[in-house]
Amino acid sequence: MSANRKKIKKLEVMVADVIQETPDTTTLILFTGNDLLDYKPGHFVTIDPHQFVALERWTAYLEFKKGKKELPRAYSLSSSPDEKYLAITVKEEMYFPGKSKYPPLLSPILSMRTRKGSKMVITGFTGPYTLPKDGNMPKEILHICAGSGVVPNFSILKYTLKNYPEIKHHFMYSNQSWENTIFGKELIDLQMDFPNQLTVDFLFTRKAPEDFQVPFQTGRISTEMIENIFNKMEQAQIYICGPGVSKYEKIAARKEGVTPAPRFLESVLQSLNDLGIDKSQITHESYG
Ligand SMILES: Cc1cc2nc3c(=O)[nH]c(=O)nc-3n(C[C@H](O)[C@H](O)[C@H](O)COP(=O)(O)OP(=O)(O)OC[C@H]3O[C@@H](n4cnc5c(N)ncnc54)[C@H](O)[C@@H]3O)c2cc1C
Repeated sequence: MSANRKKIKKLEVMVADVIQETPDTTTLILFTGNDLLDYKPGHFVTIDPHQFVALERWTAYLEFKKGKKELPRAYSLSSSPDEKYLAITVKEEMYFPGKSKYPPLLSPILSMRTRKGSKMVITGFTGPYTLPKDGNMPKEILHICAGSGVVPNFSILKYTLKNYPEIKHHFMYSNQSWENTIFGKELIDLQMDFPNQLTVDFLFTRKAPEDFQVPFQTGRISTEMIENIFNKMEQAQIYICGPGVSKYEKIAARKEGVTPAPRFLESVLQSLNDLGIDKSQITHESYG
């Protein structure tokens, strides 16, 4: 058994707090008792929908319709390993009649209907979206995130600001509006607390905020924006997380003989490719 397999275990946790981040996103603070929280920033846990009594009939119905077992869903940790509690931050997936093939299963209950004191089993900790080993740490990190893709980067950011003060961060973060911006206030506070280590660029694609005290841009993250920032950095590692083309979209497109329209992740990767940035400088994770 590999060392990594040994570290993956089931933990029974109690929801110690429920924090509404945005209208559709909630952070669950999880109390694990005396279990050792041996995880890296950027790691995720998995949660099996079969454990929720309230979802029993729904899970059975979806399994019948899909003809396969519903698998555990992955959730990145929004907490940093040096914080006392574990935290996950879950965005409610929506159902669009005529567009979505099935209604979402787990995210609505985690983000909208989980109360303080409830218990659940999580399995963790794992994932490749982490920092390099000590000795290979970059001088700079360029974070490029959209929506709930901010979650693992927020953990990486909090951890490195405190434990690797020599690393400089540039955080590009795209959302539809300020109201949808998860950890927006926390990022502003971190920028004030670590002015020499962190610069945050907020981008809003649908609605520009009024009376916003912090500089921001409108529109999508473009190749030019990345180029401007990347060129000012000396030796940057780039961490990109956000929505990508899902495996279901890929299968559907293949059947129709078309290429699926790029989403955030594919567009950013295309920009980095166009800029000739070496793949070894890029780490990415998709929630699609
Ligand atoms: C590494 C990783 C980390 C993640 N971290 C986070 C996080 O920190 N926060 C967060 O909010 N999310 C995160 N996610 C996403 C999360 O795992 C779930 O995918 C998300 O919460 C949706 O789950 P659900 O059960 O609500 O929806 P699902 O039931 O999985 O449905 C989602 C969509 O897929 C479609 N679909 C489902 N099954 C099929 C099928 N058989 N055929 C066609 N279409 C189908 C549905 O129509 C729906 O549009 C992460 C994902 C990964 C891979």
